Amino acid sequence: MSIVPASSGMITEIKKFATHDGPGIRTTVFLKGCPLRCRWCSNPETISPHSQLYFLPKRCKGFGACVEICPEKALSMDLDAKVDRKRCTLCMKCAAECPNSAFRQVGEVYSLNDLMREIEKDKPFYGKEGGVTLSGGEPLFQAGFALQIFRKSKEAGISTVLDTSGCAASEVVREIMEYTDLVLLDIKHMDPEKHRQGTGVDNALILRNARIMASMRSVRISLPLIPDYNDSEENLSATAEFALSLGVGYIDINPLHKLGTDKYAYLGLESPYGAYRSLDKLEVARARDIVKRHGLEVTVGRMM
Ligand code: SF4
Ligand code: SF4
Repeated sequence: MSIVPASSGMITEIKKFATHDGPGIRTTVFLKGCPLRCRWCSNPETISPHSQLYFLPKRCKGFGACVEICPEKALSMDLDAKVDRKRCTLCMKCAAECPNSAFRQVGEVYSLNDLMREIEKDKPFYGKEGGVTLSGGEPLFQAGFALQIFRKSKEAGISTVLDTSGCAASEVVREIMEYTDLVLLDIKHMDPEKHRQGTGVDNALILRNARIMASMRSVRISLPLIPDYNDSEENLSATAEFALSLGVGYIDINPLHKLGTDKYAYLGLESPYGAYRSLDKLEVARARDIVKRHGLEVTVGRMM
């Protein structure tokens, strides 16, 4: 065994009644931490493995009590640069003081038992197909916790879906597959250098892990469709051919959206979306048709 089981982990959200994160009705758990740095990431709060402070400027009414109470002198009344994150120690006194809930901790440690209680609460809604999905971030960044969640879920008769970038040690991937029913695997680019430019790492490990996953379990490939990055005919065809070489029959195309914009602001980060134009319907349809021509089933927006 290569994964050391963990009895607690850091999560950002438990999404109930999710209908796009695998078959049926699911409970999706977002684990914190990711080895990639996708430029278009819509969940920037899941990249760091540590807790972070959200500041929601629209909620601030300018009382200033937080500025007074902060023991690190990390706050000011300047809404554009409210939190000096180098000083902040995450004591959360500002959150406790603010009557308008303008501060929030993102990332909370959950024990395995508490999390399983949340997952099992939803069991009556799962039906034949639904269950738990681990997402992130990269769920295998906390492999010990992910392993335990899946093990316990299988013991409870709950189906397990792994929503992954595929960027993890291959031994870890092999082990977690033992407890995984379905993999939703992101393939961002087939060209190693382009992949590195978009995500910070090349794709060799991910493609190797894709073969391991597909040899052990059902896999659906998710393709985040990023304009002027991975939407060329050459890349779409290469992705489709790669899927076919794995015996994978489905590609879910997920066109770039900018729903993460506020999250960047809450973390005091610059939004990356100014660098991206939006895709129109015709461009998405063209991408779908290119993939379809290779004989694959294609969905847009993970409609399962
Ligand atoms: S979490 Fe604590 S240290 Fe950070 S800004 Fe708030 S009061 Fe200051
Ligand atoms: S793999 Fe997902 S969570 Fe990680 S940086 Fe890329 S888009 Fe964000």
